[in-house]
Amino acid sequence: MKFILDGLTVYFPYEFIYPEQYRYMLELKRALDAHGHCLLEMPTGTGKTITLLSLITSYQLAHPEVGKLVYCTRTVPEMEKVLAELQELMEYRNKYLGPNPPPIMALGLSSRKNLCIHPQVAEEGSRESVDAGCRRLTASWVREAALKSPDIDTCSFFDAHEKAGQEALLPPGVYTLHDLRVFGRKQGWCPYFLARHMMSFANVVVYNYQYMIDPKVSQMVSRELEKECVVVFDEAHNIDNVCIEALSVSLRQQTLNAARRNITKLEGEVRKAQAANRARLDEEYRRLVGNLVEAQQLRGGEEWLANPALPEDIVRESMPGNIRRAEHFIGFLRRFVAHLYERMRTPAVVAEGPASFLGGVQAAVAVDAKTLRFCYDRLSSLMKTLEITNTDDFGAIQMVADFGTLLGTYSRGFAVIIEPYDERLPHIPDPVLQLSCLDASLAMRPVFSRFQSVVITSGTLSPLNLYPRILDFHPVSIASLNMTLTRDCLCPVVLTRGTDQVSVSTRYEQRLDEGNLRNYGRLVVELATAVPDGLVVFFVSYSYMDYVIARWHEDGILADLMEHKLIFIETQDVMETTLALDNFRRACDAGRGAVFFSVARGKVAEGIDFDRHYGRAVVMIGVPYQYTLSRVLRARLDYLRETFQIKESDYLAFDAIRQAAQCVGRVIRSKADYGLMVFADRRYQRHDKRDKLPKWITSNLKEAHMNLSTDMLMVVTREFMRSMAQPVDRAAAGKGLLSQEAVNAIWEQQRQQAKQAGLGGGSVAMEGMVENRRCRDVLFLLLFVAYWVGMFIVCGIAFQSGDPNRLIYAIDSRGMLCGSVNTYENTTIDLTDKPNLYYLNALDLLKVSNLMYAKTICVSSCPTVQELCSIGQLPCTSNDQYMCPYYRFAEDNLYGKLSSVNSTAAVNYWDQLPTAQLDSCDGSFLQAAQSTAGLDLSALGVNVSMCDVAAGSSIGGKYLQAQSQFPGKGPCYPVWASTVPYFNRCFPKFPENFTSSVYSMMDTTSGVLQSATGTLKNAFSATGPQFSQHVADISKGVLIIVIGGLACGVLLSLFWMLVLRYFAGFMVWATIAVVNAGLVGCTLFAYNTAGMLTQAGQWGAAISAQLPPMSDPTGMTRENWSYIAYALTAVAALVFLLTLVMLSRVKVAIACIKVASQAVSTMPSIMLFPLLPFILEVGLIIYWVAVTAVLYSAGTPTDHWRPATQDLQPLSLKELMLTNSSQPAPPATLKPDTTNMTRTEVMDLCANSPDCYISYDWDNRLMYAFIYHLFGLLWTNQFIVGFCSVVVAGAVANYYWARGDSRNQPTFPVLKAMRNTVIFHLGSIALGAFIIAVIQFIRLVLEYVDKKTCNLQQQNKIAQWLMCIVKCLMWCLEKIVAFINRNAFILVAVKGGNYCSSAARAVQLIVANALRLAAVNVVGDALLFLGKLGVAACCGVVAFAISNLEYYNNQDKYPATYLSSGIMPIAVAVLAGYIVAQIFFSVYEMAIDTVLLSFCEDCESNNGHPKCAPPLLLEALGEKAPVEAGQDAHHPQKPQRHR
Ligand code: SF4
Repeated sequence: MKFILDGLTVYFPYEFIYPEQYRYMLELKRALDAHGHCLLEMPTGTGKTITLLSLITSYQLAHPEVGKLVYCTRTVPEMEKVLAELQELMEYRNKYLGPNPPPIMALGLSSRKNLCIHPQVAEEGSRESVDAGCRRLTASWVREAALKSPDIDTCSFFDAHEKAGQEALLPPGVYTLHDLRVFGRKQGWCPYFLARHMMSFANVVVYNYQYMIDPKVSQMVSRELEKECVVVFDEAHNIDNVCIEALSVSLRQQTLNAARRNITKLEGEVRKAQAANRARLDEEYRRLVGNLVEAQQLRGGEEWLANPALPEDIVRESMPGNIRRAEHFIGFLRRFVAHLYERMRTPAVVAEGPASFLGGVQAAVAVDAKTLRFCYDRLSSLMKTLEITNTDDFGAIQMVADFGTLLGTYSRGFAVIIEPYDERLPHIPDPVLQLSCLDASLAMRPVFSRFQSVVITSGTLSPLNLYPRILDFHPVSIASLNMTLTRDCLCPVVLTRGTDQVSVSTRYEQRLDEGNLRNYGRLVVELATAVPDGLVVFFVSYSYMDYVIARWHEDGILADLMEHKLIFIETQDVMETTLALDNFRRACDAGRGAVFFSVARGKVAEGIDFDRHYGRAVVMIGVPYQYTLSRVLRARLDYLRETFQIKESDYLAFDAIRQAAQCVGRVIRSKADYGLMVFADRRYQRHDKRDKLPKWITSNLKEAHMNLSTDMLMVVTREFMRSMAQPVDRAAAGKGLLSQEAVNAIWEQQRQQAKQAGLGGGSVAMEGMVENRRCRDVLFLLLFVAYWVGMFIVCGIAFQSGDPNRLIYAIDSRGMLCGSVNTYENTTIDLTDKPNLYYLNALDLLKVSNLMYAKTICVSSCPTVQELCSIGQLPCTSNDQYMCPYYRFAEDNLYGKLSSVNSTAAVNYWDQLPTAQLDSCDGSFLQAAQSTAGLDLSALGVNVSMCDVAAGSSIGGKYLQAQSQFPGKGPCYPVWASTVPYFNRCFPKFPENFTSSVYSMMDTTSGVLQSATGTLKNAFSATGPQFSQHVADISKGVLIIVIGGLACGVLLSLFWMLVLRYFAGFMVWATIAVVNAGLVGCTLFAYNTAGMLTQAGQWGAAISAQLPPMSDPTGMTRENWSYIAYALTAVAALVFLLTLVMLSRVKVAIACIKVASQAVSTMPSIMLFPLLPFILEVGLIIYWVAVTAVLYSAGTPTDHWRPATQDLQPLSLKELMLTNSSQPAPPATLKPDTTNMTRTEVMDLCANSPDCYISYDWDNRLMYAFIYHLFGLLWTNQFIVGFCSVVVAGAVANYYWARGDSRNQPTFPVLKAMRNTVIFHLGSIALGAFIIAVIQFIRLVLEYVDKKTCNLQQQNKIAQWLMCIVKCLMWCLEKIVAFINRNAFILVAVKGGNYCSSAARAVQLIVANALRLAAVNVVGDALLFLGKLGVAACCGVVAFAISNLEYYNNQDKYPATYLSSGIMPIAVAVLAGYIVAQIFFSVYEMAIDTVLLSFCEDCESNNGHPKCAPPLLLEALGEKAPVEAGQDAHHPQKPQRHR
């Protein structure tokens, strides 16, 4: 089939594809697109190989810039299988590609042993013999000699191939090893050298792991491979061990003996050469002296194994002088081998590092590490010089040379271990000296760094996260794919108990237990009775298998077993095992059935399949842990722990479980197959073991099958075998497959989704950013909408109950509304011409607590300076200088007594007072007023004797005029201060001399009064004119604010973001350095001042001399300074430690800031986005205030009496002056008994009392309406904030998940984010906002309770503290929830999930990345705060510069713009700049948070290795930055040879 996968045309040679194959291809393509490595697990039997080949060859076809596919396999049969599948694929593909398909060259490369066609050489037994045989025929000196002497044999195939030269080419096609041999025979060319030659032209090369990993081979074979190659390691579950083996050398005593013989032989050859052809040796010496440093030249033109060290570690220097001469080198080798021999004779195990071992070598052999490094190259050169062709005879000395070279090259990652005997057989001396590589990543590092994409794949790679750690690489794609099955053909079970119900295990204490072994034996026998055909049993080791089988034999278990099946056993001898396997298969084929006993980690476990009837059940007896007492293993475990922080137990369990999985996987090789997998050890029941099994096993492991005894197992087995014996439902099997149409439909769907999402070019939606969204938390959205319906109802109630006029006009102290017609006891009091509220007694305003009780009336206009009754002018005699209560409510029962006053609302009737008839008057008052206050009563026509009624004189209403001189007494009140109207209220403008005048009159007044007077005087008289001046300045300096504040704010904010993008790193590091240095400086300063520095020795005195001299402080001061010094030391140390801990995270923080800058700069429109929430917020506030105001105006008039505890009554100047006392004592109870009074009477009483005021108060209904309305404000406000967060996060996340490539972003990212938010996420926002609003509401309630219980708290300290703690806790809670909310909104924007799951995930990420988040928040906040301050300060500077222009300072020339002071415009400009910066940076802040959380999510989802992070972030982590396909700059011109 031919189908489209993520935009790539894939040729797949079958009609259907498994879903897991499709997913595998997707993951693989993602890695190829990203030019990164990947780690993919997919079980055997799912067509992994053909999937790989199809995808990669199709990718090569679509992307000609991609290099070769280098497919590494473990064995030759696997290689042949890959090539056979490739052949099939190419035949199929060519059908689609027409008559002239693009040529493909694919070949397998193997050793000479597998490719040689020379009749004699090919017959040689071992690989080394064939190599040596070939070398005997093809060495340059042999061929040179053959030219002179025809008797000397050469290889005709080699000669013919060499003669053909560059023309010796294979025609395009796919060549297996067999095909190569056939072609070689046909052409007469050597297939081995032909394959090597054709590698440069091949599109696909299949060879063994060693050709890629082992430096000795890879430097010869794979040196020419280009960087753009895709390297695949198939069945790579043991790749770490392969890497370690490639760099390890083991020397036994036999090896050293053979090496000694080799040295003697070499010595003889040297002597012979010296005698026969000394020129050759001299030539070699000259070559070595002549600084011919290149290893290639040293190795000469002949092919031999290469240097065992990794390419980058090979020294490119001249050969050390002490081994240049052949005889010197031989002497060195002899001493070296002798030393090794000596070291090997140790009686105890020795384990040491290479450096330590090298020290011993240097002392004994007198050569340094550098000389040792040349060991291999020197030997190679000497053997070529001596023209030695039988290299297989010199294998031992080569191993010693390898040992020396590796020892001299590596000081880390290796261990030298000498074991005098095998610990399991301590009585048999078998010394071995091992230079063991401990770090698998050493061999893999060159591969990962050299090739663009490396694919590590196998059926058993779990746990996946360990491979990137032990191999030290960062895959861009990690996936474990399950096998889709149409029937339960996999039946993994865990056997924990035997037939006697006792647990079974191979743990050390139990492994040899009689009962345990018997249980295992019975298990195998029982299984043999129920399982047809082949049964495979794996043991944990050869020794254990031998022991168990011997015991079973003794116990008759084997005999029982033999009754049912034949028994075959794997041995360490390959031939024996092969024979056993053949016979096993034969027994199965014949229907006799057989059991095969094998060993985990053995040859059978790795490479032999027991498919179909050869393996219907497999038993893994025990957990195949490595031999943990092995010195090599212990050294490796130590290294893994120290270097990669991998715990011993983790690694051992991982290694054991992968081996077990490998063993049980032997029985399933296709989906048509079936098999029972028995994990026979109770330890498999534990999570730490089970979780490490591959997903394709665990997903089939049923809960009921995790703890079985043998009896239960047999029931399960019989049931399983019975069900598997049923005919397969072919139709059902087909349902799980994807046809070409189905696959193309998937692509089409993705394309449509991408299109809808605004992704250009038909690319699929980016990973991580969920595109296919659903409406979430709809219930809360409906609730929110319903709430707003309620809000509108509240609005209706407010307008129905309230009177908007009460907002415009004030209510006087009688509860009447100014500017309106009021009714009082059926009397209409028309105040329509009196819109302003006036305070009758100015002295009431001198105390804030009195304001509420101040008596007020409505007046037509506020009295101004013309009507002023100055204190110095008393008594005032003009009617205009007085204001009186409404005539209807006139004091002293005057209503109806002043005949000329008609209107009930009249307030100017002072001059009418004399017409009133009085019954009595207070002569002593008049006396006091005249004598004490110095009032000239005669001006009013009043004298004291007029009060003497008894004498017949009558003062009449004039007494009232005299009494009105004193504010607070009435019945009329002098206008002591001019007033100005603000919002229909007359505010007094106290004159400059007001207080002095008052003081002069009231020398007996209290301090309280004085201070109150002063405060009010300052408030009203001093700031008033300045205020109006400042307002005028602001209106004139609008241009300064616009240019200096707004424009500058925008530009500087943008500039700051640019600075952050490029210099964030420098700024952060500089700040950290300055803080640390500053703390150290301060600490030293403190020590110096305390005199402790000079006592600290020479260094202290030296530092002290550098510090500025201090005056000698007193003893006490010294002590204080010493405490300060200690405290500073602790702080400096703490900060320093914190700096160290946070170093790596600061890098991430800086990268986040930079990425956020990039993201914002790629979508400038996001900067304008805050305008929308700003408009919404303003609209909300206007609406809320309007409704609240109308609501406020609703209610019924209520009397409020002064609390008895409040000791201030309104001030009566008369009383103050005349009684010469500060204030009268308050009565015990101010509120009179109003029980039997009517409402009007109570109102009257209140209106006349100086201790009562009337206001319109809410009833419960209005109160609840307000509370509802208030919560609505909080909720809606948070909703708008949440909306803004989700939109910004959505837009920025697009950038992140597009790997920082703006080309992969939607065309309009902000609009798309807004669309997503509006359609899908308003419900989640409503829920998040609701939670915050509830907390805020509780905080407001607490504040209210706090205010109400203020007095109570003052009496009870515990209550005060409790209140404080609760308020603090609520504050913290709000901050925490707001933080979680913010992050939850980011995840909502990224993942499209509901609020709860997003918040839970956010918390998880926050906890897992606490330090990272802390670093980013601290660093980000600090930088942004600096930015805001910087922007505001610069705006101030610009505004200042503008305000200094002549335009604003020349009053004559520019009177309209002349500023009395530039302060206010500059201040407003600074404020505007700060606000602009705040708006810009709020987006920026959200962008940083989004980048960070996306990064954390990316890391968490991909085992700590982010897949989609933009390059900057990857660089901060030291990871490889993925490059998107199609970036030509990253694709240098390809070498054409491979085509
Ligand atoms: S050159 Fe080729 S054919 Fe000849 S001996 Fe060597 S490997 Fe065999």
